[in-house]
Amino acid sequence: MSFYFTIMTRDTPLEGAELLFKRVAPEFLCTTCNRVFAGRSVGAHCPVCGGKSVIADKGMEFYIESIEVDDGAD
Ligand SMILES: [Zn+2]
Repeated sequence: MSFYFTIMTRDTPLEGAELLFKRVAPEFLCTTCNRVFAGRSVGAHCPVCGGKSVIADKGMEFYIESIEVDDGAD
């Protein structure tokens, strides 16, 4: 995952965002049973009931951090 992410983001504004993935795991909130669980992507299904999920507060933080870039790098 890290390898491919590095390749995909090379020479793009997302280059360097890899470290943020390692530091903060995204979390999702099941809209059916309200369970919070770790997921890999938006729309992940609840591992308990299989319900749909929305991104949790911590996960939102993850996404915001993951797309932060240094404007001075380009
Ligand atoms: Zn659930």
